[in-house]
Amino acid sequence: MDYYGSSIGRLIESLQSLPGVGLKSAQRLAFHIIGMPKEQVKSIADSLIDARENVHFCSRCQTLTDGDLCPICSSSRRDQSTIMVVENSRDLAAYERTGGYEGVYHVLQGVISPMTGVGPNDIRLKELMQRLQNADGSIPVQEVIIATSPTVEGESTAMYIVKLIRMLDLPVKITRIASGVPVGGDIENIDEVTLERALKGRTELK
Ligand code: ZN
Repeated sequence: MDYYGSSIGRLIESLQSLPGVGLKSAQRLAFHIIGMPKEQVKSIADSLIDARENVHFCSRCQTLTDGDLCPICSSSRRDQSTIMVVENSRDLAAYERTGGYEGVYHVLQGVISPMTGVGPNDIRLKELMQRLQNADGSIPVQEVIIATSPTVEGESTAMYIVKLIRMLDLPVKITRIASGVPVGGDIENIDEVTLERALKGRTELK
């Protein structure tokens, strides 16, 4: 990429390291950035560094946040006795967009996937079990809604979680989001109405 000069070449290369950005998009973005006012570019650069340095996992639900507790865990308006288990923070955002859920979350930060070498200890399951046993002093949990994706990995992770909770022998109702979420579908790409319907129609796992 020498014909661009080294600064542009380096910018294009850096942008290309992002997921879903190929050479053409990277070039388009690079030339767009070069045409932007300097202050705006600096503000983007600062927010990238700030996010990377300050964002970490919420000490209770394990979603990405910049405080000790995320805004949902620290809200007095949320029902802390209902926990919805989701795969990642993007799925949490998808359920929040429905506006129809008042409980709190637990974000696994992944799913169990033997194919890609992700085992139960690689996702935030231990933290969920600690929460259920009330180890962090929060109010007792009455319902756990398992909202992992209806993919092979999502289903087997759901089954594994059910097994673990049963082993704790707690008076906790375990439910699974209902039909409406297409089999094999990713939660974050499903529209709000379908998600809300899936949540409302959840069934108890006996
Ligand atoms: Zn939280």
